[in-house]
Amino acid sequence: MIQFDHVSKVYSGGHMALQKVSFHLHAGEMAFLTGHSGAGKSTLLKLISIQERPSDGRILFNRRDLSQITKAEVPFIRRQVGMIFQDHRLLLDRSVFDNVALPLQIAGASPLEIQKRVMAALDKVRLHKKAQHFPMMLSGGEQQRVGIARAIVNMPPLLLADEPTGNLDASLAHEIMQLFRELNALGVAVLVASHDQKLIEESGQRKLVLQQGRLVEDTGAEHGA
Ligand code: ADP
Ligand code: ADP
Repeated sequence: MIQFDHVSKVYSGGHMALQKVSFHLHAGEMAFLTGHSGAGKSTLLKLISIQERPSDGRILFNRRDLSQITKAEVPFIRRQVGMIFQDHRLLLDRSVFDNVALPLQIAGASPLEIQKRVMAALDKVRLHKKAQHFPMMLSGGEQQRVGIARAIVNMPPLLLADEPTGNLDASLAHEIMQLFRELNALGVAVLVASHDQKLIEESGQRKLVLQQGRLVEDTGAEHGA
C-alpha cells in the first residue's frame, strides 16, 4: 500500500529530516514508527499525507507515485488517509457528532449518509451515547476517541497516528491501542508514530526505528519490498 524507496527530505533551511528511507507497509498491516524527538517521524507521516513533498526518492501509494500526482489529485489521496494527532484537534464549539461529521460534510455526503456513518464511527469507538456532548465535557481519552472516529468516518484504508497516546496515562494509552488493533482487524492499515517503547514492545507489533532521519531498524523487514 505504502512503499518508500530511498526517500530523503531536506527542509528549506537545509536540515535533512529523512535520509534514504525505504520500507513497505502492506494493505491491512499495522506498524509502529519510533525514534527520538526530531528523528523524522512526523516528517515521514507528512510525506504520506502529502503535507510535505520528498526531496529525493520515490513514494508509492497504492502504486501511484506521489511525486507524479497533480494538486487536483491531492484531496483524492488524502481522503484515503485518516489522520490522528496527539492534541486531537477537535473543534471545541461543535458537538462530538459535528466534529466526526466534518470529513463527510467536506466530501459532500447527504444528511442521511452522515447520520448513519457518524453513528457507526462513534459506535466503533464506543462513544455513540455522547454524540451530542461537546469536547470540553469529555475526558482526554474520550477526546482522543472522537479524533479516531473522525479519522475513520469515511472508511479510509490507511490510518496515520502521530503520538496518539502522548497526552494519556498508561491505561488510556492501552485503550487507544486496543482500538487501533480492532480497526486493524477490520482490514485498515495503521501506522502509529510513538516514542513509548513500553507500549510498542508490549504490542509485539512491527517496529520501524528512525535515528536522525535514517531507518536503522525494521522488525518487519521480511514482509518488505
Ligand atoms: P519527529 O516527529 O521524529 O520529532 P520531525 O519529523 O518533526 O521529527 O522533525 C525531524 C527534523 O526536521 C527535526 O530536526 C525538525 O526540527 C526538522 N523539521 C521538521 N519540520 C520542519 C520544517 N517545516 N522546517 C524545517 N525543519 C523542520
Ligand atoms: P511534532 O510534535 O509533530 O513533531 P513539532 O513540534 O516538531 O511537531 O513541529 C510543529 C510544526 O513545526 C510542524 O508543522 C513542523 O513541521 C514544524 N517544524 C518543526 N521543526 C521545525 C523547524 N526546525 N523549522 C521550521 N518548522 C519546524
